[in-house]
Amino acid sequence: MKIAVLPGDGIGTEIVAEAVKVLNVLGLPMEMETALVGGAAYEAHGHPLPESTLKLAKEADAVLFGAVGDWKYDTLDRPLRPEQAILGLRKNLGLFANFRPAICYDQLVGASSLKPELISGLDILIIRELTGDIYFGQPRGRRIATDGHFPGAEEAFDTMRYSRPEIERIAHVAFQAARKRSKRLTSVDKANVLETFQFWKDVVSEVGLQYPDVELDHMYVDNAAMQLVKAPKRFDVVVTGNMFGDILSDEASMLTGSIGMLPSASLNSKNQGLYEPSHGSAPDIAGKGIANPLATILSAAMMLRFSLNQEASALRIEAAVQKVLAQGLRTADIYSEGTTRVSTREMGDAVVKAL
Ligand code: NAD
Repeated sequence: MKIAVLPGDGIGTEIVAEAVKVLNVLGLPMEMETALVGGAAYEAHGHPLPESTLKLAKEADAVLFGAVGDWKYDTLDRPLRPEQAILGLRKNLGLFANFRPAICYDQLVGASSLKPELISGLDILIIRELTGDIYFGQPRGRRIATDGHFPGAEEAFDTMRYSRPEIERIAHVAFQAARKRSKRLTSVDKANVLETFQFWKDVVSEVGLQYPDVELDHMYVDNAAMQLVKAPKRFDVVVTGNMFGDILSDEASMLTGSIGMLPSASLNSKNQGLYEPSHGSAPDIAGKGIANPLATILSAAMMLRFSLNQEASALRIEAAVQKVLAQGLRTADIYSEGTTRVSTREMGDAVVKAL
């Protein structure tokens, strides 16, 4: 099993180190190779996704990714910004399906901003399409300046588009995921206003005819945003486009207490995947040893499950995480009175010990 390890910037290096430690104690035949990505790669090679990093990622069975970005790169021309590395990896590896589970662990019910009864037992899965939508539409607003800004311009625009095959393949992934869970799927759109999303709704419904055992419902994105905080347990699997998915998955993630707990997987049609925490590089806490490594450790578990066919090891990691939470160990972001505050490294060590 070949794994490309791309820690990236900010807290990326700190949290990935803990996930690697956890993977190493499983005793599986894994080969892990590390490479620079994001701002770190820009500093060393003048590009956020150097050829050598891309080659490593393409040849691997899976990519374990930390996070990229720092405010200091905000004035760079857009193609050189750290975040472009993720878009480049998604594009080059054909990663079109982003899985973001939002699970509320019993021990963290109190860390949520919602009432315990609304989120206790919450276990939803948001599936976001990654390759289409307004992020990749053409034409895009004309660039007047090279620093990514538009001094003196009167307008800027981006075009929303989806093709039938793009919608069909994400719909199949979503129906199949729903089949393995409660057999309920909600497709989120904005069909009342946007043609692109009327098309989305029609194609998802058509694909749904092949999955008569899955109950499909459609919801407008504004209502979905509201329902997620009003009655989140009404959802099981949610499928949506790139932009709505970006926003709703962050909203869903916060229901569970901390973005530091949430893993994610981005898969292509061969089940090759990129696994990363849902959060960014957190420059505000980088280097302090206080970042929560659990989202990255849980992403490593998803990697074992989806790309490496090691379900038993994935379950072991997830059980170990539950165990350290039950022991009352907390990084600063999930700390509450009566629990024990630990550092990034101590949290990783505790998961290793639990394993
Ligand atoms: P962020 O997710 O990095 O941080 C948001 C807040 O959550 C911060 O207060 C941070 O301290 C906290 N946080 C995040 N992860 C945490 C963890 N593991 N433990 C404890 N606290 C944690 O989002 P941001 O501040 O908007 O962006 C920072 C940089 O990250 C930007 O350059 C942005 O572009 C980039 N970014 C990268 C990715 C990615 O690499 N996939 C995703 C989102 C943002």
